[in-house]
Amino acid sequence: MANELSADVVVVGTGICGSFVAHELAQAGLSVLMLEAGPRRERAQLVENWRNMPPANKAASDYATLYPTVPWALHPQYMPENGYPQVDGPDAHAYRQGILRGVGGTTWHWAASSWRYLPSDIQLHATYGVGRDWAVTYDELEDYYYKAEVEMGVNGPNDTSLKYVAPRKQPFPMEPMPYGPADRRFTEVVATAGYANTPVPQARNSRPYDGRPQCCGNNNCMPICPIGAMYHGVYHTLKAEKLGARVIPNAVVYRIDTNAANEVTAVHYYDPDKVSHKVTAKTFVIAGNGIETPKLLLLAANDRNPNGIANSSDQVGRNMMDHPGILMSFQAAEPIWTGGGSVQMSSITNFRDGDFRREYAAIQIGMNNTAQNLKAGVKALQMGLVGKKLDEEIRRRAACGMDIYVNHDVLANPENRLRLSTTRKDGLGIPFPHITYDVGEYVRKSAVFSRQHLQKIAALFGATEIETTPYFNPNNHIMGGTIGGADPKNSVVDKWMRTHDHKNLFLATGGAMASAGTVNATLSMAALSLRAAAAIKQDMLHG
Ligand SMILES: Cc1cc2nc3c(=O)[nH]c(=O)nc-3n(C[C@H](O)[C@H](O)[C@H](O)COP(=O)(O)OP(=O)(O)OC[C@H]3O[C@@H](n4cnc5c(N)ncnc54)[C@H](O)[C@@H]3O)c2cc1C
Ligand code: SF4
Repeated sequence: MANELSADVVVVGTGICGSFVAHELAQAGLSVLMLEAGPRRERAQLVENWRNMPPANKAASDYATLYPTVPWALHPQYMPENGYPQVDGPDAHAYRQGILRGVGGTTWHWAASSWRYLPSDIQLHATYGVGRDWAVTYDELEDYYYKAEVEMGVNGPNDTSLKYVAPRKQPFPMEPMPYGPADRRFTEVVATAGYANTPVPQARNSRPYDGRPQCCGNNNCMPICPIGAMYHGVYHTLKAEKLGARVIPNAVVYRIDTNAANEVTAVHYYDPDKVSHKVTAKTFVIAGNGIETPKLLLLAANDRNPNGIANSSDQVGRNMMDHPGILMSFQAAEPIWTGGGSVQMSSITNFRDGDFRREYAAIQIGMNNTAQNLKAGVKALQMGLVGKKLDEEIRRRAACGMDIYVNHDVLANPENRLRLSTTRKDGLGIPFPHITYDVGEYVRKSAVFSRQHLQKIAALFGATEIETTPYFNPNNHIMGGTIGGADPKNSVVDKWMRTHDHKNLFLATGGAMASAGTVNATLSMAALSLRAAAAIKQDMLHG
């Protein structure tokens, strides 16, 4: 056992959720220590890694390889696959998540779509009699949504008459970004069939904001914005550090100590040489994302908590959710030229809400505005073309290629479960997470209509070479595994993200979200994390 460290608050994980909490608490004058399993990464090196990646990886949307994983803090790599995490069940493919472990967390490579949930998403059971309700209502969350939007710098449409956008008391911090040619044309074409296209709220700068530049629209957002116009969680890690918070990278928390009152007294972490270090604090926050947080709570089971930390309800690791997706690609009959502007700007929200949710899942339909040139180049080469014909085919495919997706609301199901693997371990000997996943009938029923919508949209564009995923694909919005609720018997955290079992332990992750809605989930995770910070400040400064 090496030296012992101490702080007012220990935060495990430096993603957006952990960094938001650390920043708020450091700003309030508390001493904060952040433990991060993975290494620090520099933007310039990541951009260089991206440039040097093989075209086939780029064309297949491999956003992981440029973030090399380390043996003590594995994260998923898909080209080639490293099998992390283990997934099985009828819809295993739909839980092949992208997470990153390292300072700043997973938002290093996100698309920054930053939606608020609808009040009915949050109270799905109260409204439609299916699924579960969150511990918190929309009204209780709204101020935290707004603060998260300001901290991240979210641009979006202020027109509340748009179909199914969340109510708001304050305008977005920034005006929406202008549409490029593809998003403009998409809006016109789908409108002819009654689909209302809504500009996606995005955490990227439509004007210089918070010391970061304006987005120049050159479409590299996934896997890395070279100039930092897109918000990344690392900005709040750096801001917290400036205010005095200390970050220890390569520190993998694996054990949690509790006392007779079941308060947390210490966490222990391994460094890359597997030397163990103990850290004490008054309050602890675990912000290890929706997969690593339940994994750690199960791993850290002790004599007082034999089923795992915070797990007297047996709900830790259950109710794992994401937005099961279907992706369609095709060649449009006319040049569309996706790739001008950021990667995700258009969303059809007509089916985001409605009484049909009693029977089947709500959906979001969107167009990816990702540039098609890499896919076009690989395909044209595979066709064996050379010279002028090759050039023409690349140009045609780059102009006419389109990707349309549908994301589904999924219901919390306790059988969709994360456990500790019994067969695979990482470089420190810590078991992999092992997830069993089935999207359920509620989604399968809805997907029948989703596929009809996709066919209809393809027809509107005179599509050829239509390819639609036969399975559900993941969307990296990891929710449910430390589910929130009012009743300690069937939930893990309360409306302030405080664990029911340990009064000084908070979980700042999407795990608290008890229903999935249809839209990207990180803004909600960030807003919930700000509630955790508010409760901790109340405890420690005014309690
Ligand atoms: C390709 C891609 C695109 C996406 N696009 C969008 C989008 O457009 N909109 C959206 O809303 N969401 C999007 N997401 C999802 C979004 O990135 C996540 O929801 C978000 O990053 C979650 O934040 P977090 O802080 O909970 O976790 P993370 O960002 O994953 O950070 C958690 C951190 O905790 C650390 N940690 C974990 N366990 C331990 C431990 N035991 N000890 C120490 N440290 C630990 C990890 O190493 C990690 O750095 C996307 C994700 C991907 C992969
Ligand atoms: S379009 Fe370019 S500048 Fe704008 S957020 Fe994406 S990568 Fe950054």
